Amino acid sequence: MRTIYRSEPPWPHRILILGGGFAGVETARHLEKLTRRRDDIEIWLVSRENFSLFTPLLPEVCSGNLEARHCVTALRAQLRRPSSWALTADVESIDLDGKQVVVMGGDGESHRLNYDSLVIALGGETATFGIKGIHEWAVGMKTLADAFALRNRIIEMLERAELEADADERAAQLTFVVGGAGFSGVETAGEIEDFVRRVRRRFYPKIVHGELSFHIVELKERVLPEMPQDMGDYAATKLRRRGYEIHLGTPMKEVREDGVVIGDGTFIPSRTVIWTGGVQPSPVVRESGIETDHAGRALVKPTMQTSRDGVWAIGDCALIPKADEDGAFHAPTAQNAVREATRLAKNMVASIDGRPDRVLPFRYKVVGILASIGSHTGVGMVFGIKVRGWLAWFMWRGYYWSRVPGIGGKARVALDWFLNSLFGSDPVQLKVDYPDTGGMGPSGTRRPPPRSVDPRA
Ligand SMILES: Cc1cc2nc3c(=O)[nH]c(=O)nc-3n(C[C@H](O)[C@H](O)[C@H](O)COP(=O)(O)OP(=O)(O)OC[C@H]3O[C@@H](n4cnc5c(N)ncnc54)[C@H](O)[C@@H]3O)c2cc1C
Repeated sequence: MRTIYRSEPPWPHRILILGGGFAGVETARHLEKLTRRRDDIEIWLVSRENFSLFTPLLPEVCSGNLEARHCVTALRAQLRRPSSWALTADVESIDLDGKQVVVMGGDGESHRLNYDSLVIALGGETATFGIKGIHEWAVGMKTLADAFALRNRIIEMLERAELEADADERAAQLTFVVGGAGFSGVETAGEIEDFVRRVRRRFYPKIVHGELSFHIVELKERVLPEMPQDMGDYAATKLRRRGYEIHLGTPMKEVREDGVVIGDGTFIPSRTVIWTGGVQPSPVVRESGIETDHAGRALVKPTMQTSRDGVWAIGDCALIPKADEDGAFHAPTAQNAVREATRLAKNMVASIDGRPDRVLPFRYKVVGILASIGSHTGVGMVFGIKVRGWLAWFMWRGYYWSRVPGIGGKARVALDWFLNSLFGSDPVQLKVDYPDTGGMGPSGTRRPPPRSVDPRA
């Protein structure tokens, strides 16, 4: 194992940020702003991929509304200072006593990185809650590979259904099941229904409208539990009108190759099961030895300091208490993560400079929440005012568009949307070669075993 050094003595104070998502990147960017005239601080950003992913727009990659590359931004393009460094590597472990992090680089070797201050911003990964068969047969919606895998799976099923002679198998191919009715579940559900119906009409004449079947399976008694009840009800009504059967208060029990078992044992035959039902913090957080809650999120003070000196945690992998509300915590959202980062950067610089009086709690009152539910419809609440329908969708798009990093990024996204509205979606299936070993994540392209089909049927 090698130790990576970058600067010459006298060593600057090295801030090591783990995770290149909303929280990590924004922390790095704010630290850069605060320390731009200083050469006694250097910033290292380590992440698994060399880009950050704009997750709110991920379902649109799946439907082809947005080019995959336009949903991501290179980490190196987001860091400006010569003394900042974006490093693509997998974080394997954190040695808090030795102030070192062990990472696995693309060279397949482990490296030790020393730090003076550490930010843990490793986010979350898909949680399966031990539901049988999810890893093997379901597709997630958390990574770019997930979006690709889902798009490919949907198109594959439409292509197969056109040739399928067996009525039961054809029904399973044309049935789409989404597990989870939170933000990502509802947004994914809206987007795929829209996509499937649009491409069916134009490109798959042998599939008739009534053959398509869509389901949402949700453990809680309502859709969009993050929103007021009537907003969730509105989303549910809209989705039902568009053909969704919504199974509320129903657990997903088992995912099989040919379908899913839900609640009371009902079996829904389906070749496309999408799991959006949960996120768990990266296991590296718990294994590091810092204090965590039962789910493995870092327990921090409202200032985002962990129990260890010089170690901070932020974003989805941290449980950040609200400073003015006992027992309440900031929600794990991108919106919060970017605000937490601004405060964290200030706190870190104050702490490094020996100004504990300037290390302040994170305070932020969410001004609004919006969700897109497909077909140019949305739902949400902004400044306490409930919005729904086209206006909510437009506000959702406008808000997230304004948050896409860089002018170039915004231009690309706007152009994609414009061209798509003119020319519509196409069913191009980009068969990227993933290892055929499982159902979730990068391996999510696992296809059902080949069946004999008769094209003349
Ligand atoms: C489909 C979807 C839609 C969403 N829509 C919204 C929305 O509309 N509004 C909203 O506010 N929030 C939304 N969210 C939630 C939002 O994405 C998260 O709250 C946000 O991404 C949290 O940011 P983060 O930086 O903490 O974590 P992440 O964005 O998950 O970033 C973590 C980073 O750490 C890296 N990483 C993890 N483990 C390792 C490791 N071992 N080694 C190296 N790198 C590692 C990951 O690759 C990633 O780059 C959505 C999420 C999804 C999945």
